[in-house]
Amino acid sequence: MLDLIIEGGTLIDGTGSPRRRADLGIAGGQVEAIGDLAAAEASRRIQADGLAVAPGFIDLHTHCGFDTKHQPGGANMNYLRQGVTTVVGGNCGFGPIDFETLRRNLEGAKDGPNLAMMIGHNSVREKVIGLDDRAPSADELRQMQRLVEAAMAHGAIGFSSGLYYVPGCYSKTDEVTALARAAAAYGGFYSTHMRTESDGVMEAIEESIAIGRGSGLPVQISHHKV
Ligand SMILES: [Zn+2]
Repeated sequence: MLDLIIEGGTLIDGTGSPRRRADLGIAGGQVEAIGDLAAAEASRRIQADGLAVAPGFIDLHTHCGFDTKHQPGGANMNYLRQGVTTVVGGNCGFGPIDFETLRRNLEGAKDGPNLAMMIGHNSVREKVIGLDDRAPSADELRQMQRLVEAAMAHGAIGFSSGLYYVPGCYSKTDEVTALARAAAAYGGFYSTHMRTESDGVMEAIEESIAIGRGSGLPVQISHHKV
């Protein structure tokens, strides 16, 4: 006995195989049967004629996460309505810093997509040295590393930078590498909105790779247009 059959839809299963008409049987929260399920028993049936049936999409580049506190149970519903079931926030160096509070705010949420967050360099830098155009002192760098480590320990999936923006643009490569290394102790990846995407783009790519090499984190270049 299945819990749910989604029937009559066009199945696009995400494996790269061609779309096809198929029913989908779900039990215990998992897909248990695919094919012609006209004769199968289910507690509930949803007619999906003329509709696409697909696994949930993952949107790797969003700026979700700031507003979760104000929308209990309803955060980011716009994504869910487009078929996105997981969003990644904290991109481009900006996002919440206190992941313990973030996690607490999300605990009461019932609806909305899954939220995975990165810890952002710009937000961490602004918290410790404001918008000053200077290098951090050794003590300030340690404070920033501790904020990155705390976020990773509380579930951040990676470290992001936005070196095009204030105050990230005031940092040198060694600062970003040192913070990425703090994140690397917990795994994850380094995502960057590079220092530039026009003149100097090759140097910006080289810097992104150098930060990955220096920290041991895989690199994701968020926007890439030449
Ligand atoms: Zn960006």
